[in-house]
Amino acid sequence: MKVFINPGHAANGEPDPGAVHNFFNFRECDIALSIGKLVKRFLLRAGCYVEMLQSHNLNGEVTGYGKSVVESANDWGADVFVSIHCNAFNTTARGVETLVYDMTGGGKTLGDCIQKQLVETVQKIDPEFPDRGLKSRPLLCVLRATEMPAVLVECGFIDNDTDALILMNFQKDIAAAIARGVTDYWQRIS
Ligand SMILES: [Zn+2]
Repeated sequence: MKVFINPGHAANGEPDPGAVHNFFNFRECDIALSIGKLVKRFLLRAGCYVEMLQSHNLNGEVTGYGKSVVESANDWGADVFVSIHCNAFNTTARGVETLVYDMTGGGKTLGDCIQKQLVETVQKIDPEFPDRGLKSRPLLCVLRATEMPAVLVECGFIDNDTDALILMNFQKDIAAAIARGVTDYWQRIS
């Protein structure tokens, strides 16, 4: 299985670090990259082929950042696309959610597998960690323009103190859950 991992937002945070925790100085781009690297390691160990790209250029809308994320995944012929992000809202919202193009087909199945593993894992760390479920986001280009089942995982709210500390301190657990979700999906469809 060929898995394409896209840690969200710009590499090194320029020009877009994504969401931040103002007091802790955590940046979404950094958390997404370190979780992405761990997911890659787990999936390689499970026998997958893995490509990873973090880029400000998602679908050719900007120049000067090399090939776009969507084009790279499509040209490589990925079987599965996983984008890794953190949410931010009003500092009190919490939880994990997985975004999919729509509620049918491979993307939905992949999303179900990943969300289930993630929820199990984060609720072992904190039983109060909310399960925000699967959501359809057909306008997101990484979900719309990718040619393979694709998900965007929101691993927690970086602007919430409790979620932010879990995002920093339990990256291995979160990454293992995402990787297990991907291999669960592969087992389910093969
Ligand atoms: Zn994001």
